[in-house]
Amino acid sequence: MLGKYSPRDFEGKLRRKWGKLKVHEFNEKSKRKVFVIDTPPPFPTGEFHIGNTLNWCYIDFVARYKRMSGYNVFFPQGWDCHGFPTEVQVEKKYGKLPREQFKQKCLEWTNEVVGTMKPQMEEMGFSIDWRQEYYTVDKEYHRKVQYSILKMFEKGLVYRSKHPVLWCPNCESAIAKAETDDVERETALNYIEFSCDGKPLLIATTRPELLHACVAVLVNPEDERYKKLHGKTAVVPLFNREVKIIPDSEVDPNFGTGIVMVCTFGDKQDVVWTYRYNLPVIEAMNQKGELLNAGKFTGMKAEQAKKAVLEELKSLGLITKTEKLKQVVRIHDRCKKPVEFLLSAQWFMKLKGNEEEVMKAAYKMRWIPPHAIQLLVDWCRGLEWDWCFSRQRIFGIPIPFWYCERCDGVVAPSYSSLPVDPAKDKPPVENCPKCEGKLIGESSVCDGWVDSSITPLIIAGWPDDEKKFKLLYPSSLRPQGTDIIRTWAFYTIYRCLMLTGEPCFKDVLINGMVCGSDGRKMSKSLGNYVEAKDVIAKSSVDSLRMWAALSGSTGKDNIFYWKDVHYAHSFLNKLWNASKFIETSLQGYEEGRMKLKTTDKWILSRLNKLVESCTNYMENYEFYSAITAITEFFWHEFCDYYIEEVKHRLYQSDKYGGESKRAAQFTLRTALLTTLKLLAPFAPYTTDEIYESLFSKESSVHLERWPKADRKMSDEHSEQIAALLNRVLSEVRKFKMSNKLPLNSQLSYAKITAPEELDEVREEIEAVGRIKKIEIAKGEFSVLLKR
Ligand SMILES: [Zn+2]
Ligand SMILES: [Zn+2]
Repeated sequence: MLGKYSPRDFEGKLRRKWGKLKVHEFNEKSKRKVFVIDTPPPFPTGEFHIGNTLNWCYIDFVARYKRMSGYNVFFPQGWDCHGFPTEVQVEKKYGKLPREQFKQKCLEWTNEVVGTMKPQMEEMGFSIDWRQEYYTVDKEYHRKVQYSILKMFEKGLVYRSKHPVLWCPNCESAIAKAETDDVERETALNYIEFSCDGKPLLIATTRPELLHACVAVLVNPEDERYKKLHGKTAVVPLFNREVKIIPDSEVDPNFGTGIVMVCTFGDKQDVVWTYRYNLPVIEAMNQKGELLNAGKFTGMKAEQAKKAVLEELKSLGLITKTEKLKQVVRIHDRCKKPVEFLLSAQWFMKLKGNEEEVMKAAYKMRWIPPHAIQLLVDWCRGLEWDWCFSRQRIFGIPIPFWYCERCDGVVAPSYSSLPVDPAKDKPPVENCPKCEGKLIGESSVCDGWVDSSITPLIIAGWPDDEKKFKLLYPSSLRPQGTDIIRTWAFYTIYRCLMLTGEPCFKDVLINGMVCGSDGRKMSKSLGNYVEAKDVIAKSSVDSLRMWAALSGSTGKDNIFYWKDVHYAHSFLNKLWNASKFIETSLQGYEEGRMKLKTTDKWILSRLNKLVESCTNYMENYEFYSAITAITEFFWHEFCDYYIEEVKHRLYQSDKYGGESKRAAQFTLRTALLTTLKLLAPFAPYTTDEIYESLFSKESSVHLERWPKADRKMSDEHSEQIAALLNRVLSEVRKFKMSNKLPLNSQLSYAKITAPEELDEVREEIEAVGRIKKIEIAKGEFSVLLKR
């Protein structure tokens, strides 16, 4: 028998039972329809934050629902281990170490951190099949990633080239555009005196530290002030170099003085102009962000150089004015430091020219919410360069190539030799096959998105297991956050398409971000930060999970409110207490002859509608609508009215008859069991504990089939009568309360007028309202009561 509701006491026990019953396991031998989830492999940070929680709750709602709907659910879990944050942590702890030793420490750190995250995920009841766990640091994973790169290389989609790339001097690595953010910062616009024909020529710039790399000066061709300058040259101050003055219509005549200096490479526009006019390239800085070719400023970092150059210009009287300016600066999203453009030999994946195909594949998928696809489409349309995927870091999958020192030719390993680490492994041939030059092993590693952008292939056994691949590819569902559409979703769709020719998902489920209760992004410094484990400690896992569904509709940004957790907890408490009552009421219940009354037919009809709408909501990933429908029905129809309306039949079967009692028992049982099933994906612990106590000790609600709506249970007439009955009983309650009478006190008389004949519920009015004499009439609704 159910005791006091204390969810923390049975969570562990139920997890062990699910393990024993293999509730979460994918069955390789089953003939059932397969549902494959391409679960995000989280980056091991040690903490499963509330945003992750929302994401995984959504995934688990789907997994549990699909299992109950008869699918053979494949719910793997990976860990996206490589990357810069781990290197930072390890460096903090151990300082600089030799390459191999450093990698080893990164690996140890990763394992340690995964070891703290996994139990949190298990505790939250995520029904992951842990037999399908994968780590991107595994040798097998390395092999498959390198295999994918080799395949794309063969198709001409991977190449090495010297290009201006986005570079983070702080992290000393090339980065992709997707890893940058634009932020507005205040900076100074300095008016600096160049000269032309011995006369001063004022140019405004925010980057005086790049003067030494100035290779041209541009004006707008329509700008009357400067038409006479076309074709002339200007002299760069401090460095006394002559550069061409070129008219270009992209120059904004209203910015500064209407003249701009082009440096290699101050920003993206400089890159464009450099190529457009075939300007000379002056390497302005090295990989640490220190100035090169800058005379006495050489070796200074950008900030330091800026000060020194400005001071020098001031002392020579070459600055006429300085204005404050709000400017958009591109920063590295990880370290928040400004990024530069640097000329460097890097590895690229060919994106340009493939955008249309990627968009076409994305349009074949079902996006939830539908508008989320627009983020991907906009990203595709805005692509300017190929994907620079090489990173000058250590903890990553090695890029599997050697290149020739002399002719830049590339040598690839054989498939059978994978995985390789060209930084230490010998190349497959002694020398360059083209020119006999010396071969150098690539020491750069892959951007982490290279690893994670083939997860739908990895989980489907690609490229070795064809049978498994047929079964598990494409994934039925890709669940992920809206913040990584331009990265994870985009790269995955692109890579899988290039490698297989097929779209990699059927459904893409996008979850929003979780904000603090003040509506701002959660952050420890703002004091609005909540961790999943705080919520569990103060309430329960099921309340936390129900919060995820209650916090808002799918795809929108969600705000964390404690009131949602409290609501969930009170609802579960209500469910528990109602179940306790039903458990007692079902004592001695046996199936047999029974007579359903109007109230039974009403609640069964409503229950049937609930099943129908809930199924619909779950099919469309509308968790908020589903959970709201369930709680409203159970709390405010079933508990507030129905249970009250059958108590007399349960307690006084000698007066109202055994068949009536049995009908009430049957209805209570059906309504509770169905509600438990509908609620099981959201509150897996509480529902299963109740299920165990009332319905089956050995089995689990999670092995039950999802209820099916049944037209025959629809009964509009009973719903109509019950609605009127409930209205009458509300009036009776109100009357007693306003007359300060106990709710169970008896009234002498009632005259009830209603638009429908209420004779068939006379018994309920009499028994629940405790009214001695009742008169019933047809007409406009009114209730007259006497004490
Ligand atoms: Zn950085
Ligand atoms: Zn060569």
